[in-house]
Amino acid sequence: MGASPGLPGGGRGGAGAVGWGERWESAPRVRVPFWCSNNHETRPSFASDAAVPETWDCPRCGFPAGRDQANPPGPPRSEPYKTHLAYVKERRSDSDGAAILAEALQRLRKDI
Ligand SMILES: [Zn+2]
Repeated sequence: MGASPGLPGGGRGGAGAVGWGERWESAPRVRVPFWCSNNHETRPSFASDAAVPETWDCPRCGFPAGRDQANPPGPPRSEPYKTHLAYVKERRSDSDGAAILAEALQRLRKDI
């Protein structure tokens, strides 16, 4: 859609909207609450004849959310933690780079 210059803003909400509603009512939807481990509640809606998944991605923090508020699924693996560890290791093995940097800094100081 977007801005259509020819149409006044109030043009919507008439017969077109009613037609929409009728179509959706023929396929009833249910709202299913999910909770993530940060206690965020999200309630996506599903077609009543669709299978409701066990988990749902929390739209706020991205964690998986479950249908049992008292027992939400844990964080999505320890992937971020692993990445951080790898990052630390990388930095340790990168001490050559640090030495080069220190040397460069010393030279810079001498120049000043
Ligand atoms: Zn969340």
